[in-house]
Amino acid sequence: MEQVRAVKYLFLDMDGVVNSNGYLIKSDDPWVSMVDPLNVAQINVILEAIPELLVVLSSAWRLYPGKDVTLEALRKAGYKGDIFDVTPKESSRGEDIYAYIFHHDIEEDDICILDDDTDIHPLRHRWVRTFDFEGLTPKGAAQAIDMLKGKL
Ligand SMILES: [Mg+2]
Repeated sequence: MEQVRAVKYLFLDMDGVVNSNGYLIKSDDPWVSMVDPLNVAQINVILEAIPELLVVLSSAWRLYPGKDVTLEALRKAGYKGDIFDVTPKESSRGEDIYAYIFHHDIEEDDICILDDDTDIHPLRHRWVRTFDFEGLTPKGAAQAIDMLKGKL
């Protein structure tokens, strides 16, 4: 019998993940100008390694400018994925994500959080920390892949 592959979830922050301090490209669109193709390429690396991955936006960008504008900015920077959903607004980043997985009956082991913020409690064990001076790096992407494959 073929084994059913579990869906995995990537909780995506924007600032400090798909950009870094002071990063601005020339664009008439202020949101596009804040997304670095080099960082986005590393998100694509994760998506290629984990085809069953669904991306849930946990960044403040989900509130403003919102999911559609965020997806468009990501796509203009080369993003090959989609935004499956957004987290609710509870209190901290960690609590928002926790509320999402609780309400959708998602196992903690099936998620990975990409974020440069540190308020990830109670899910710090599912967190790949990025830093605002560099955003998501190849090392961070590799760590996320290992976590989602159950190697961490
Ligand atoms: Mg951030």
